[in-house]
Amino acid sequence: MIAEVIVDIASNVDKVFDYIASSDTRVGDRVSVPFGNRWLDGYVLRLKEHSLVPENKLKRLGLTKDAYSVILPEFLVLNDKMKALFHLRNVDCIRLFVPSVLRSDRVHTLVCKVVSFSHFFDKKEALASLRANATKLRALIESIDPDEDYEVTALNKQFGQSAVNKLLTFEGVSLISQEKQRLPPTISKVDTAHTLTMAQQEIVDSILTSNEGVHLIWGVTGSGKTEVYMHIIEQEVKNGKTAIFLVPEISLTPQMFALFRARFKDNVAILHSGLSDGERYDEWKRIRLGEASIVVGARSAIFAPLQNVGVIILDEEHDSSYIAESNPRYSTHVVAKLRGEYNHCPVILGSATPSIDSFLQARHGQIVLHQLLNRVNQLPMPKIEIVNMCDEMLAGNRGLFSEKLKNELNNVVASDNQAILFLNRRGFSSYMICRECGYVPKCENCDVSLVYHKEDNQLKCHYCSSRYKAITQCPKCGSEYIRLGASGTQKVVEELRKLYPKLTILRLDVDTVKNKNDLNTLLDKFANTKPCVLVGTQMIAKGHDFPAVTLVGIIDADVGLHVSDFRATERTFQLITQVAGRAGRANLLGNVVLQTYTPNHYVYRFAIKYDYLGFFEKECNMREVTLFPPFAKIVRVLVVSTIEDEALSQTRSIYNTIKTFQTENDDEFLFCRAMAAPIKRIEQKFRYQIICRFKLDKEEEITNFIFDTVDRFNNPKVKTFVEINPSNMS
Ligand code: ADP
Ligand code: ZN
Ligand code: ZN
Repeated sequence: MIAEVIVDIASNVDKVFDYIASSDTRVGDRVSVPFGNRWLDGYVLRLKEHSLVPENKLKRLGLTKDAYSVILPEFLVLNDKMKALFHLRNVDCIRLFVPSVLRSDRVHTLVCKVVSFSHFFDKKEALASLRANATKLRALIESIDPDEDYEVTALNKQFGQSAVNKLLTFEGVSLISQEKQRLPPTISKVDTAHTLTMAQQEIVDSILTSNEGVHLIWGVTGSGKTEVYMHIIEQEVKNGKTAIFLVPEISLTPQMFALFRARFKDNVAILHSGLSDGERYDEWKRIRLGEASIVVGARSAIFAPLQNVGVIILDEEHDSSYIAESNPRYSTHVVAKLRGEYNHCPVILGSATPSIDSFLQARHGQIVLHQLLNRVNQLPMPKIEIVNMCDEMLAGNRGLFSEKLKNELNNVVASDNQAILFLNRRGFSSYMICRECGYVPKCENCDVSLVYHKEDNQLKCHYCSSRYKAITQCPKCGSEYIRLGASGTQKVVEELRKLYPKLTILRLDVDTVKNKNDLNTLLDKFANTKPCVLVGTQMIAKGHDFPAVTLVGIIDADVGLHVSDFRATERTFQLITQVAGRAGRANLLGNVVLQTYTPNHYVYRFAIKYDYLGFFEKECNMREVTLFPPFAKIVRVLVVSTIEDEALSQTRSIYNTIKTFQTENDDEFLFCRAMAAPIKRIEQKFRYQIICRFKLDKEEEITNFIFDTVDRFNNPKVKTFVEINPSNMS
């Protein structure tokens, strides 16, 4: 037998070589292979009878490294499809499939020392033998159950090391090493499974009976989608199947894990970016070996090595984090669909504000649509009021809060409730500017304005994390008239503090929450403080359920609206609906104050009425008329290099080739232009781009042509990326 092996996936070369296999070599095995004068790790992609390489030139495979094949057959099929669809290489895919610690061979099983008891140990006798003043040792022995093992570090902590050492001198007590599995910690929660409402039950039944294809659950916030997902998962698991449940990274809250752990116990594995490499590997292995059959995780958990998948769920399916924007680029929706087809199982998308793409597919019958029209508790959606900030300005109010918002805040404080103030911009203020000459400090490595952070009086680059001293004098003209530009979350907190010196104010953004623990602590504090105001970026928009929140203030709704992204309006609608959904979730009514400088924009007209359908029609119409996705396709070729000339000449070569192709297909192309990227430099690398927009009739042909062209001009000094309908065009 001959094995096709992809060798050394740490390198960027997509090397597949033939080796002579052993009798027990399996497809998907991680194997050690002789390569030149070294031994490298490789993965068996295929087994075949014959090789084109002469037999005397073939080498034999070395050891198989694991007791199980690392890549399941399903993933080898997925590998081929992803390569074609996203134009990836084998190495890109395999890196997605295999946890990094396994790849780098840094796996070490966690071993811990435990105190163990044999039948020679007699607890009564031991206690009787103690001196009266051996209180710690007595407490220790009294607390133990000789049928159990105890981790020695835990005992040391509780009873002191000397008591533990003495215990070890008793007959029948010994210290042994034991392999330990790292289980990601979760908070505990009591399970509150509900009897489903009629509407929920209908959806569960319908999806379970159809049992294939893509489904979209469109249900307002608080309509009980999560409960629907959990019932379907429960049923699939009862039938011996497995399940994948994905949420956006920032909704992967401790509450969410706790909910799943409470209902499904150890059968749940958790995958998110907060895990250590060791924890991630242990969870992966538990999944691979079938010890956990439900996976809860963020985007990359779509590659969880489950077999016999019964359902795949993408909650908040509209969220942009489902599209992997950096290499390797892929769409989670598409991968989910491929896995669904392979496993003949349903794929469920859920959202209060489905993406235009998904909803259009539902319209066209490619996706089955299910609706949850009302909140479970029949509470109305909170009322959204628009405040025109231009009017406030004219009336002499130059602060961040309108009179309306201030009144509402007063009510919240007076009635001991809670409020959330939302502003999708971190820091104190977005930039510093010289009022005399207009100078704005920029990052030395990236062509972006620096963001002022008041806490440490520093300017920070949000692209490369470089820090600079705040300026008090303009380096260009010498003026001391330095002003702050638009405001961020920190500024909101400061203004709020002036209004309410004694109020508890919490801030949630990437600067105050560095890890899951911080987030946990902060959310816990919010849950337990009244009155209290939480100020935050979009990190607060998702999923959280705080019953005492009666007011949501959207400080500047226009933040994401005027950016060069064809999905900007769609995202604004989604964000407003999400944030507004945080108010009035329990028995208290909720209110939302939405502040804007462009109150007549259509997005607000629909958002305040929660009119998704109206918005969808309008937005679709706009995109159809102006020929934007999903009615056309945008491809960006991004060329990045530390050497500007290389980037430029590479861009030019690719552009000229596409341009020739464009003249031959003039009817199809709407746009094809080369230029510097909006941010011309990030981390000292120069960035140029070619943007093509074309109709859908020949989209595959054109896309493939672009991919092929990029491949043809492969140059090791330059990195070239092809992005399909990119949302982040920086
Ligand atoms: P969504 O995911 O649509 O925002 P959730 O599933 O979080 O909504 O449900 C909102 C609230 O309603 C939760 O507190 C949940 O426990 C509760 N809930 C869900 N289904 C039911 C039900 N059938 N009966 C009673 N309460 C329910
Ligand atoms: Zn920078
Ligand atoms: Zn100046």
